[in-house]
Amino acid sequence: MFGGLTWLSLRHRLISEVDREVDAGASRFEKYFKTETAEAPEGQLRDELEEFCQALPPSSYISLRGSSGFAFRYPHGMSAPPADFRTHSKAFTWQGEEFTLEAGISIGDVLHTLDLLRFLLLSLIPLVIAIACVGGAWISGRALKPVHDITAAAFRVSIDNLSKRLPVPETRDEIARLTQVLNSMLERLESSVTTLSQFVANASHELRTPLAVIGTSAELALRRARSPEAYRASLQEIAAETQRMTQLVEDLLMLARRDTGATEMPLTAIDLREVLTEVAAEVRGLADQRRIRMNVSLGSEAALIAGNRPALHRLFLVLLDNALKYSPDGGEVILTVQEKDESVAVTVEDFGSGISSAHLPHIFKRFYRADRARSEGGHGLGLSLARCIAEAHRAEIEVRSAEGSGSTFRVRFAALDAIVDLRDRVSSST
Ligand code: ADP
Repeated sequence: MFGGLTWLSLRHRLISEVDREVDAGASRFEKYFKTETAEAPEGQLRDELEEFCQALPPSSYISLRGSSGFAFRYPHGMSAPPADFRTHSKAFTWQGEEFTLEAGISIGDVLHTLDLLRFLLLSLIPLVIAIACVGGAWISGRALKPVHDITAAAFRVSIDNLSKRLPVPETRDEIARLTQVLNSMLERLESSVTTLSQFVANASHELRTPLAVIGTSAELALRRARSPEAYRASLQEIAAETQRMTQLVEDLLMLARRDTGATEMPLTAIDLREVLTEVAAEVRGLADQRRIRMNVSLGSEAALIAGNRPALHRLFLVLLDNALKYSPDGGEVILTVQEKDESVAVTVEDFGSGISSAHLPHIFKRFYRADRARSEGGHGLGLSLARCIAEAHRAEIEVRSAEGSGSTFRVRFAALDAIVDLRDRVSSST
């Protein structure tokens, strides 16, 4: 199209230039003829006209015929303009006589130029297109090579080799950025998968022990006939282990649900003092057995929060249970509720073994046990469950502890009045 348009417009332009020249030549010739018929002596008119014609552009043609028989033609030998001439005819009357003037100029040069241009366009354009195709393919191949490499590498990533990373091109462009983003996604996926498989491995391991105890107790009891008391003892052991296992499975389920975000805990208005009284009563027997003094101060006013009662029960049971477990016989555990600055804080304090600074950052991790000998019977899930429940309540759980001098766990909830206040403020402002 480009070539065709260029050729056509050039042709139009050159030919109209010639046409204008022909017009101008005819007009000048007419004027000259009129002047010369008036001034030139008889018989010299033709010579004068001939001379005028010689001054016209080369390869011009002029023919003038009068009604009385006057005829002038230039050049002499040409009876009519050839085909490649642009011509212009006009008629005029001069001194009572009708004249017909025909003028023409050859467009041989113009046609030659146009032919040359056509040849150039027809031969160069395919060449340019071919170069553009090859060059384009080469450039896009180079530009897309990193994408190709990334695609191939990403294709090879699977759950078995999540540690593989995609090659980051050194281009510092969007593709490098995309690769980095993909790599950091792979990193997160890898750590999630590792955590998950560790969780599964640990959970299976923890479940194996009670199952083994149950199995062995039953087998031993069945080996020969026994007294009803012996059967009772075996069944009690089995029931106790089953109870422990049920608790473990429930804890695992809650953690797993929290991981998938499958269930939101329904929250209702709850007086924390009621939950704490219940939990304290539940562990009192254990405390009395070991002569541990339970110092419970719950204040006189209701400590209202938005909470899930069974979950909160589990949370404080974990904290109190740990406080008792890691206290020496005859020790003391303090449980307090404090409401201040629109928040309700529950503190569980003991003066037992404490946690060393090496273990402290890890105690909320799943299956983490700092002191395996003492945590006998624990699975290392209690505190991670506690944190998970606290998070579901948008509460903060923090610990202060020093080895040998005891630990303080504090859970800080937003007070219900503060939540209601906030909600009122939000709804009145909208
Ligand atoms: P466990 O079932 O082993 O008690 P937790 O998740 O409840 O698991 O606690 C993790 C670890 O944190 C425990 O093994 C223990 O070493 C440490 N820990 C928790 N609470 C206390 C505490 N009150 N005093 C000392 N150590 C504690």
